Amino acid sequence: MHSKVVILGSGPAGCTAAVYAARAMLEPTLIAGIQPGGQLTITTEVENYPGFAEAIQGPWLMEQMQAQAQHLGTKFVQDTIASVDLARRPFTLVADSGEHYTADTLIVATGASANWLGLPSESRFQGFGVSACATCDGFFFRGKNVAVVGGGNTAAEEALFLTNFAERVTLIHRRDFLRADKTNQMRLAANAKVDILYDSEVIEVLGGDNPRGVTGIRLRNTITDSRHTLDVDGLFIAIGHSPATALFKGQIEMDEAGYIRTAPDSTHTSVAGVFAAGDVKDKVFRQAVTAAGMGCMAALEAERFLAGGH
Ligand code: NAP
Repeated sequence: MHSKVVILGSGPAGCTAAVYAARAMLEPTLIAGIQPGGQLTITTEVENYPGFAEAIQGPWLMEQMQAQAQHLGTKFVQDTIASVDLARRPFTLVADSGEHYTADTLIVATGASANWLGLPSESRFQGFGVSACATCDGFFFRGKNVAVVGGGNTAAEEALFLTNFAERVTLIHRRDFLRADKTNQMRLAANAKVDILYDSEVIEVLGGDNPRGVTGIRLRNTITDSRHTLDVDGLFIAIGHSPATALFKGQIEMDEAGYIRTAPDSTHTSVAGVFAAGDVKDKVFRQAVTAAGMGCMAALEAERFLAGGH
């Protein structure tokens, strides 16, 4: 199956790229991947996507984006790509189904996923008190007690951000020192709402089903092995993200953390005709609206590339 534009990924970046490419009459093919709709399908309420006066549901927003791209002429394919060859154009992509796709241009919008602790109780409460995004969900914890797991800059900044809403924020770190930089460490120390529990790990998320929500966490001291319960209404996991770039290793330039590198103010990657948009190339903002903006840029740049304008 040949297309002028193939888009990999069906989150806000991929769907927006599809809308723009379809409106440019490029008849794009969007290959949805392993998690159709992307990270927004595992959140509940979304209050910060512009255009909606009332809170909306993440999965609903993604259904709408997909429907919009399809109405405009995008071919949606429920498939997952197993290998790509970007050495020559047209690029070749081989799917799990065995289907071969060829493309004159490729927009990589495969996203990233938050790393989780891997506890069964953690996944049970995802979207119901357990989150990996304080910017997205902090607002729901006004006047409440929350905990943040992690010792890096993200954990520090999430904890500080959460003090805008929460009554108390407990930062839980498995070591006796933070990896976060000195400025963040000083801000944490200076903030009266923040407590830090060192040498501690979360071993269980506690909560109920009616209504479903978090009521506390079980902690283990990694030195003494002693355990105790901390009452919290929310748990934020900030132990890093992993971009979905394994497919492109050795073919597209990436940074040391595996994020695709793009030219400044552009979605151009190191391979001419391959563009990257959204969380797969962005470890700073990670918002649906910024991903959507980059999807738009990628489609416009692909259009220009196909027209010979590069
Ligand atoms: P990170 O620096 O890799 O830190 C991840 C933290 O999570 C570490 O403290 C790590 O513990 C902990 N961790 C990892 N797996 C864990 C597990 N299974 N259980 C408990 N804890 C676990 O990741 P990040 O904070 O997301 O930052 C990513 C990159 O972006 C970094 O280079 C960071 O400096 C940068 N960043 C910069 C800024 C800024 O400059 N303002 C803001 C955000 C992010 P250990 O310490 O024990 O390994």
